[in-house]
Amino acid sequence: MTLLVRSGNAEAFLEWHAAFAEFSPGLEVRNWSDPDVDPACVEYVMVWEPEHNRLATFPNLRMVCSAAAGIDHILSDPSLPKHLPLVRLVTADQSQRMGDYVCWAALSLLRRIPEILVGQRERGFDTALTGEAAPDTRVGVMGLGAMGARSAVMLAGLGFQVAGWSGGAKKIPGVQDFVGDADLAAFLARTDILVCLLPLTPATTGIVRAETIAQLPKGAGVINAGRGRHVVDADLIAALDSGHLAGAVLDVFDPEPLPKEHPYWEHPKVIVTPHVASFGSRRVRARHIAGVIAAFERGESFPGLYDPVRGY
Ligand code: NDP
Repeated sequence: MTLLVRSGNAEAFLEWHAAFAEFSPGLEVRNWSDPDVDPACVEYVMVWEPEHNRLATFPNLRMVCSAAAGIDHILSDPSLPKHLPLVRLVTADQSQRMGDYVCWAALSLLRRIPEILVGQRERGFDTALTGEAAPDTRVGVMGLGAMGARSAVMLAGLGFQVAGWSGGAKKIPGVQDFVGDADLAAFLARTDILVCLLPLTPATTGIVRAETIAQLPKGAGVINAGRGRHVVDADLIAALDSGHLAGAVLDVFDPEPLPKEHPYWEHPKVIVTPHVASFGSRRVRARHIAGVIAAFERGESFPGLYDPVRGY
């Protein structure tokens, strides 16, 4: 069984190789860029942003695994073999790291850290920048999947008033539930800090746009750790400039890396992080994917299987 890996540089590949040797010794792990790999031997791939049309060149491919939680970078391949199982990464480690990030971002908006950082650069000492208290602040998490559900629970643990919005009803202790398009307006109207943790699909592309932002209360904040294309950048910037939004913490962009001339970099109300919200260790990810492949080989179910009907 051969697994072809495309994720990170040559050094990263050595790490992947060592981790798979530990968790799946029977698996032959080869580098995506290795010219000596016989395409007919490749049964599994684990990839991040594979170049288009390459996946279709493996005649005996049985499964496509994403090296991360998102699969939009694979679905964009026009010749992706659609009959193959496509698996995204779902680990407790990644959910926890996302929860850590979202809590940090929400607390940063709550405590007016973007303004405090601007003040620091100017050696300002504005004692009025005290911010609010978590129990007085309503956070709304869009997407209650592997990332959103854990983040919502952790935010509730910090004392925020937390609600979640997703496709189907959920019962998460301490989290008010909003479901589907019918509940979106009510969800937005009660949300002081909006967190986007949706998958990128045709229905969610551009969901944070002028029309939805306008439904948030004045002075609200936005956190995006889903995908860059969830946000219409010009609309977000206009809302920050008009004062309707107080701040934003953004981890994902379209395109990435965020171009040097992009207005986000210098915007006084924006904190930019370089797509680092939840980057699981290679060892943990390899252990998880080795487990997925083993379950697949045994004909058992496994987490993270892409559902083409739902689109995520
Ligand atoms: P999941 O597939 O586990 O969860 C998706 C959630 O979104 C589900 O709750 C789903 O509803 C909901 N949803 C999907 N479409 C809609 C819709 N049209 N309307 C309302 N709700 C919808 O995804 P993950 O939690 O694994 O990932 C979430 C996002 O986080 C992805 O965009 C991923 O790429 C990103 N991510 C970013 C990282 C980073 O470092 N910045 C790291 C990891 C992930 P339902 O529950 O009803 O199905």
